[in-house]
Amino acid sequence: MEKSRALVKALNFLSMYERNELEKMILSRDSLMPHEITNKLSITYEKALAFLLACELYNFAKVYLLVYHLCEPDKYIKAIPFHLGIPKLPFVCENCDEEIEDISELSFDVIAQFKFKQSLIEELRKN
Ligand SMILES: [Zn+2]
Repeated sequence: MEKSRALVKALNFLSMYERNELEKMILSRDSLMPHEITNKLSITYEKALAFLLACELYNFAKVYLLVYHLCEPDKYIKAIPFHLGIPKLPFVCENCDEEIEDISELSFDVIAQFKFKQSLIEELRKN
């Protein structure tokens, strides 16, 4: 199957309204986090994440797992390619130099950086 057709199929779980709204968000931003999509579109977090991962699968985005440490909850200490998953413990926090041994000291978020935005938007407009 041609790659772009495959992305259109992969996005079938989104309504045309949702795709329109996503298009507007992507036009104004180079990166998006799933919660930003859920806030704007009132779709589930899982759907928002699935959209971003579909974009990565078809090379329209690079998705990263952001790792936060208790020492500074608003500033991530690592951005790991999403497919590599949660970092192996222990590791040393680059922010506070503490050795982290317990996963409960960490929290996580996801961000997608878009590439080929114009092509992605054309995909979103297809049925
Ligand atoms: Zn730290």
